[in-house]
Amino acid sequence: MNEQNETINQVVTAVCAACSQEFQVEQKVRERLVTVRDEPNVKEVGLQCPHCGDWTHAYFTTSKTRRHMNSMKREIALYQHMRTEARLKSVRRAQDKYKAVFEKEQNRLRPLFGVQSPTVDGLGQQIVDIPKDGEK
Ligand SMILES: [Zn+2]
Repeated sequence: MNEQNETINQVVTAVCAACSQEFQVEQKVRERLVTVRDEPNVKEVGLQCPHCGDWTHAYFTTSKTRRHMNSMKREIALYQHMRTEARLKSVRRAQDKYKAVFEKEQNRLRPLFGVQSPTVDGLGQQIVDIPKDGEK
């Protein structure tokens, strides 16, 4: 058993800031392409309220964050295949690297769009945890 699988099964609910109705985060995560000068691959992930359609920013993904996400997934897959101390270390290293790159990219892009980190504390991180630990 690892804790990563538990994160996936968790049902996270959010309350819409616009209409105050509750909905399940996992089912309402949306991704949309956004325009950044000289950077063709920036996507914004957010939540779309099923009741009123209001969009809540969660985080951005870029070529950089996606690249590190992939290496992290690769390390996790390797570790799940053969659980050695060394591979676990590689997973931790890849996770730390991803976190650092992720934060840096958010801090770089958020001012460009005038968005803040999600208002619900930790909500962004919760959403990040879903694809991060997703396994086929
Ligand atoms: Zn709403």
